[in-house]
Amino acid sequence: MKRIELKAMGKINLGLDVLGIRQDGYHEVRMIMQTVRLFDRIALVKKDKPGITVKTNLYYLPTNENNLVYKAARMLLDEFEIGTGVEIRLEKHIPVSAGMAGGSTDAASVLFGMNQMFRLGLSKEQLMERGVKIGADVPYCVMRGTALAEGIGEELTALPPMPECQVLIAKPGVSVSTKFVYQQLDSRPIGNHPDIDRILEGIRRQDLHMIAGNLGNVLESVTIPEYPVIAQIKKVMMEYEALNAMMSGSGPTVFGLFDDPGKARAAYQKLKNGPLAKQVYLTGVFNTRR
Ligand code: ATP
Repeated sequence: MKRIELKAMGKINLGLDVLGIRQDGYHEVRMIMQTVRLFDRIALVKKDKPGITVKTNLYYLPTNENNLVYKAARMLLDEFEIGTGVEIRLEKHIPVSAGMAGGSTDAASVLFGMNQMFRLGLSKEQLMERGVKIGADVPYCVMRGTALAEGIGEELTALPPMPECQVLIAKPGVSVSTKFVYQQLDSRPIGNHPDIDRILEGIRRQDLHMIAGNLGNVLESVTIPEYPVIAQIKKVMMEYEALNAMMSGSGPTVFGLFDDPGKARAAYQKLKNGPLAKQVYLTGVFNTRR
């Protein structure tokens, strides 16, 4: 296979709780992850010359070993002593530094694609084991769908698929460093913990209203005071009768869940034409696992 094209899907967190900090500095989390139909496009092209070339449409992204797609490719080229090289064309659509695991999902897709391209014969689990060395969310991004993520995010339990709904995604024109948010969280007592078990119950019952009613993200207590625009975007979504709206990951992206396509569309238009959000997408959940 000389060329492979991949869709690297983003995620939202239906629930995100932080249980504590480990000796090694990583945080113990309990999160409910959901893949959404918003994706980066990646093309892998086999090259006779050894080495990795990264090309991307976003001028400010690194194209060296600091890009997670590079790290993923390097890992497999080295481990399997592959003498040829690869060009990675990365077309970004998932907002960057936004709490949607954009870099992690790109890395997961490169692992998946390189495994096929070079016929490495690695199972999904073996790809996930390698992925965690690149980032805590990478194993989930290999797996996709609805999942409970514990440990540092790498202990995954597959869940029944979340019911279909419209997902409105809006990112304000600020970028948030995940590291900064967790550092801030460590410097204060953790406030309200979300009720992850209630969301799990909603998923088991396939009850969209129960899921939406219990969305919760403990990191909002850090990011929203820094960026009040997040609360303003949530408010717009609620005015347009989202079932609920919440920040994803460490933010600043906000997602709203809708069971009425007309209302979702109206909220999309409002945010798209208004000053609060820089990137706005109307999409849905994606439940096909790898
Ligand atoms: P998470 O939801 O996992 O916290 P995020 O949305 O906060 O992720 P990303 O967009 O995945 O953040 O990554 C942002 C940072 O990572 C930026 O500093 C960017 O330069 C760097 N980066 C490296 N590789 C990529 C990539 N393939 N796509 C986006 N950012 C990347």
